Amino acid sequence: MVTVHSQINHSSPIIPKLPGSYVLIINLPIARELLIGRLGSIDFPQGYYAYAGSALGSGGLNARVCRHLRLASKKRIHWHIDHLTSVGCIEEAWCMAGSQRWECTWADILSQNGRRLPPRFGASDCRCPGHLILLDSADEVENTWLALRSECKDNLQRTRFGQSSSSPKQPLA
Ligand SMILES: [Zn+2]
Repeated sequence: MVTVHSQINHSSPIIPKLPGSYVLIINLPIARELLIGRLGSIDFPQGYYAYAGSALGSGGLNARVCRHLRLASKKRIHWHIDHLTSVGCIEEAWCMAGSQRWECTWADILSQNGRRLPPRFGASDCRCPGHLILLDSADEVENTWLALRSECKDNLQRTRFGQSSSSPKQPLA
């Protein structure tokens, strides 16, 4: 007998422990102004944000995505993206195993359905225009998912998180 906890996860909760590239979908329920290290003070409109990253070290995608979730729930800051996850909610992770670093290419693809904001975000180790893309609506998240999955020839895996695994929906005042 298999019990299906459909309330917890709509799709597979198993993120590969292999190296690979990933996208986080972060819901920011209200506009926020955040101080992002050397990038300075940035206005983040309400909306869905797609962040492209890669995890090629030990522990791979699983360790990295869990780390994002853990830092978000503790409101700890290590990377640029932690400023946003500490006030927003990580709703999804899209993962593809592989030794190639796809984050910059994926950020380009994501930006076709939204706009990069702010410039150079998450791009301290590369020369691309930035790894964070604002998608205005849940429909745009869906369109972007379909576009990227198609680009990845169906090798992209989608995991949705329940509210308890991520940061609160309501940011602190
Ligand atoms: Zn880049």
